[in-house]
Parts: sequence; structure tokens; C-alpha cells
Amino acid sequence: MDKICREIVNATIKNPSLWLVIDFDDVIMYTSQATRERDEELSVKAGLSKEELLEISKESREENTFGKKTFSISKFSQKIKEKTKNAGLVDEIINNANYAKFINQSIKKLLLAVKSCIEDAKISILTFGEVEFQKLKVSETGIKDFVDEVVYTIGPKKEVVEEKMREYGVKVPFLITIDDSPDNIDDYEKMNIKNYINIRFKHPLAKTYNDPHNAKEVFVGHELSQNQAAVDIWKIIAEKFSVSQPDIAKWEKVIKEAE
Ligand SMILES: [Mg+2]
Repeated sequence: MDKICREIVNATIKNPSLWLVIDFDDVIMYTSQATRERDEELSVKAGLSKEELLEISKESREENTFGKKTFSISKFSQKIKEKTKNAGLVDEIINNANYAKFINQSIKKLLLAVKSCIEDAKISILTFGEVEFQKLKVSETGIKDFVDEVVYTIGPKKEVVEEKMREYGVKVPFLITIDDSPDNIDDYEKMNIKNYINIRFKHPLAKTYNDPHNAKEVFVGHELSQNQAAVDIWKIIAEKFSVSQPDIAKWEKVIKEAE
């Protein structure tokens, strides 16, 4: 099994001035909440208790060849089918969950603003997990239109970023990562890269919300309101890179006007 799988959406940006690497689960999509709602429906329709489902969910996680634990949706589905009379419903609920409903509009606007204000910025989604399931969610949210590439990995994200930085050489003056996972935040912090911002995105409904991180130089972007998170993250970027006031105003305007 390959460590990474790449989908190039827009390959025209060769030498970006800024490379934004953004996580998918619980940053672009409210995955924790989507999972909760999906499992509530599964619990009712499959006639299983929440505790039983939680147990199945735990049993569906296994360590892969890169020493990382991944959740297998096919295993999860199979195990539920073994315990329910409504087996036909399981795949239907998993595959037809309304993932688009759980997209984070504020992050979508942030990506739109990056593209509007920094012409040669490159945006990559870097998402960890079983590729088949990640592809389903990414595709359902329609977020691909807002990025240059999607990178799926079952290995450490830090290694993927470092590999790509080596590929880019010194051509990327600025790197920004946005993630919610304390493990990834701590790992990213170990990278020896100049002009780098490690942003932790926190949302109260995310599973990782209360988990502490140990990294020192992290900027935390809380979701204050639909637009506020996008504006706040931009302010972090603008301050670090001395972006001019008119550009900040333009950015806020793009975010506020975005649908
Ligand atoms: Mg995440």
C-alpha cells in the first residue's frame, strides 16, 4: 500500500509564494458531528445500542504498515452487518450521509480569500485515513473546487510535507499548516522550516477540542462565528508576513461577501 495518493485539481502553480496545507477532518468538514449524527441513525435503524456501536467503531481501527491507526469504514460496515437484521441499510446510511451539510463555511471562505488575494498561493488538502472513505467525504463536500490538490495519506503528515518541501526546494517562501489534531500540531512543530506558521483550528464540537498540544509556536484559530474564524486566521497570516492594511481590508471584504 502506498503512503500517499495525490489528486491534482489545478497543477498550474509551479512556484508558489505561499503553500497552505490544510487538514480535512474537523477543519474543512465537521467530521466529529457528522459521525455522531450518522451513528445515531445507524443505532436506531440497525437496532444497536450506542455502546455496541462505539465498541464496533473501536474494533474497526487498526495499526497500518506505517505504524498509524486508521479507521476502516468497510470493516465498520461489515461488523454492523453481522449484528443487525437490517444489513441493507448500513451501506446506504454510510454512503449517503449528507456530508456536504457538514462543510465548514468559514474555512471555505478562507480558501476563497487566499485564492482571491494571493494569486500564486498553492492550497493543498492533506488528509489522513483510509483513502476510499476520505475520497468519498472530500468529494461530497465539493471543496475540491477551492484547492489545487488533495493529498491522501496513511502515514505521518509531517513526512509528506517535508518530502514536498524538498521537492519544491527553496521555491516556497512561506508555509502554513492548519490542523486540529494535537499529534499533527506537535509533529509539525518539529519541522525545521523558515517562515512557517503552525495553526491549530479548534471547534467545540470536534473530538480533539479539549486535547492539549505541546507545541510552542502555535497560533490557535477558534471558530467564533461563521466569518470570524476566516478573518482571524487571515490576521495571523497578515501579521506574521507584514501584509499591508489595504490587503487586509480586501481579504475581509472577500470573506464577508462570499456566499
Ligand atoms: Mg483533522
